[in-house]
Amino acid sequence: MERYDCHCHIFNIVDVGLKAILEELNSAKELLDQQNVNSKQKTKETDNDEEKASIWEKLRKIAEMIKIFTGDSETILETLDKHYDGKYTMFPLMFDGDFLLDDFDDEELGFVKELATISKQPEKVNNSNLAKELKEDSSDDSDVILRFLGQIEDLVEERKSNNEYKSGFQKQYDQIKAIKAQEKYADKVLPFLGVDPRNKTIKNYLTEIGANQTFAGVKVYPPNGFSPCDPILVGEGSIFEYCSQNQIPIISHCSYGGFATPVMSIDVDGMIIPEGKTKPEYHNGEYTFTRNIKDGFTEMVRERAGVLNHPLIWEEVLKQYPNLILVLAHFGVGSDSWQQEILRLMKIYPNLHTDVSCISETDKLEKIKSIHTENPDIAHKILYGSDYYLDMFFNDSFDDYLERMQRVFGEELFNQLSSENPKLFMQKWYQPVDTPMETIA
Ligand SMILES: [Zn+2]
Repeated sequence: MERYDCHCHIFNIVDVGLKAILEELNSAKELLDQQNVNSKQKTKETDNDEEKASIWEKLRKIAEMIKIFTGDSETILETLDKHYDGKYTMFPLMFDGDFLLDDFDDEELGFVKELATISKQPEKVNNSNLAKELKEDSSDDSDVILRFLGQIEDLVEERKSNNEYKSGFQKQYDQIKAIKAQEKYADKVLPFLGVDPRNKTIKNYLTEIGANQTFAGVKVYPPNGFSPCDPILVGEGSIFEYCSQNQIPIISHCSYGGFATPVMSIDVDGMIIPEGKTKPEYHNGEYTFTRNIKDGFTEMVRERAGVLNHPLIWEEVLKQYPNLILVLAHFGVGSDSWQQEILRLMKIYPNLHTDVSCISETDKLEKIKSIHTENPDIAHKILYGSDYYLDMFFNDSFDDYLERMQRVFGEELFNQLSSENPKLFMQKWYQPVDTPMETIA
């Protein structure tokens, strides 16, 4: 059986920019909490093994990811391929974090460094067996993290001082081109180009997307600081217009979580849902958020997600391009109302899909399973994806992730999500859209 992973990542984690990494690791808020735990413990002398264990556990996972994913893209791809016993076709999605690196904040980096250093000091740990065991591991992990942060600092310096600096976008692009040029990956790897409308030259890459091209489709991540309706993306001569006319698929991040730009003010041009409003409205100019990272990572991300990436904003895109081949990834997980909106939109727009990537909680997978059962009309639109290697932050290993997915969905449904549905999805890419749209509400 041919299987497909419709959502994975193979970029070197250093290449995507410091902010992207720190936040994608979902660490800042949690590390902040843990630092509070640390200082509480210092003053109150009460030791809580569980809390400490969670600090080491977090550091261990970050270190684990850093160790594996500071390699080149091909090595990462091969690691994933091994997990799959070579049986999957993979869709690696680029992530353009270049516009986040601009907002590099020494203070924040210093904070994470300090935490990694604090965590190294053995006298801050009690003597329980658990803590002892974890301490040994985490001391090594701290070194890995500190070395990694050093690499990031070098990168930022290089970027500041060198005009010839190769952007994260360029590095990912070059590596994907090199992978795709190899015969063995020709049918096995279908990459998606990372599109950020702030990338001034992005439209030059359009001719490299399509059947038998380097890229199969486009990947966007609006919470990074732009509207899905930005004029580069939507309107005359835009990228989505091109995609709609040429049957090119687009995958957008679409969960009520994940990662978002931590900057407080952005320049935005397009539909957004301003704080306190419930419907999309046009905005052109500066938009200022109310929550920053210190208010909590989750809150910060949710505010930006709601303003920039709500399914209702995507509905505005779909109204203009009703046949757009679009995947709103992660099925809006994190918000029931997002999930309901995506479900509603999938019933209206024939080429709208979703995926189950990076959903690591059994109850959330069960929920999707019941949506699948109760809505046979959209059952063919749910795709399997791994979000490898970002899922590793929430799982002890990738095999755990895959095993849970297979167990909760069961053989028949997993076969549908990972094989039958992706095949139906792919049939749409290069076929002329000659059938009229189904009724649009
Ligand atoms: Zn992803």
